[in-house]
Amino acid sequence: MTITTDNLKDMVKAISTALSDSKSDLNALDSELGDGDHGTTICAGFAAAVNAIEEAQTPSEVLQKTAMTLMNRMGGSSGALFGTLFLRAAMTVKEFDDVSSELFGAMWQAGLEGVISRGKAQPGDKTMVDALSPAVASLAQASTAGTSLGEALRHAASAAADGAQATANMQAKYGRARYVGERAVGHVDAGAKSIALMFGAMADYWAQMNAAEEDSNGEA
Ligand code: ADP
Ligand code: MG
Repeated sequence: MTITTDNLKDMVKAISTALSDSKSDLNALDSELGDGDHGTTICAGFAAAVNAIEEAQTPSEVLQKTAMTLMNRMGGSSGALFGTLFLRAAMTVKEFDDVSSELFGAMWQAGLEGVISRGKAQPGDKTMVDALSPAVASLAQASTAGTSLGEALRHAASAAADGAQATANMQAKYGRARYVGERAVGHVDAGAKSIALMFGAMADYWAQMNAAEEDSNGEA
C-alpha cells in the first residue's frame, strides 16, 4: 500500500488534532525546561497548515506547504526546525505521485538529517532528535524487513514514544533547556513529545483508515 496525497493531508490533520489534544501538556513540559510556549506554538502552526494544504495536488506540495506554514506561524528556533523537517521530507518525495513505505522512511530520514544539520543537536542532547532518530531507524528496519506500512508506522510510533520518554534522563545542550542544567533531568523534552505525538497520530490514522476500508469491503 502507498500513501496518497489525500492520505498525507489526513495525516497532517490527524497530527494537528493530536497536538491540540495535548496542547496544555506540551506547554507544561516546555515550562519545566523552556518558556512554556511549545504547545501553543506547534498547535497554531499545524492548525494553519491544515488550511494551507487544502488545495495541494501532490505529496511534495502537502509537505512543502506544511513546512512553510510551520516556519511562518511557529517562528523561533522550533519553527525553523519543524519547518526543516517537513521541507526536507518534501524534497525527498518531489518526483512522486504517492509515497511508498520505503519513500516514507527516506523522507523522514532526510528530515532528521535536516534537523541535525540546522540545529546541531545529536541523539542524547534532549531534543526532538531523540524521538525522531529512533522513529527513522525503525522505519528503515521495517523497510529492509518488508514489513507492512501499518506495522512500520506502529513500530515507529512506539520507538518515538520510547525515545521521547528517554529524554527525561538527559541533560540538555541545545535550546532554552540548556540553561537549566541538571534541573532538566527528570523532565521529558517538549519537542520530543511532539514528535512522538506526530508519529502516534499517523499510525492511528493509518490503522483506522484501513479498518474502515476492510469494513466497507466486507459489506460490499
Ligand atoms: P522555543 O525554544 O523557541 O520556545 P519551542 O518551545 O516551540 O521553541 O520548542 C522547543 C523544542 O525545540 C525543544 O523541546 C526541543 O525539542 C527543540 N529544540 C530546541 N533547540 C533545538 C536544537 N538545536 N536541535 C533540535 N531541537 C531543538
Ligand atoms: Mg518554548
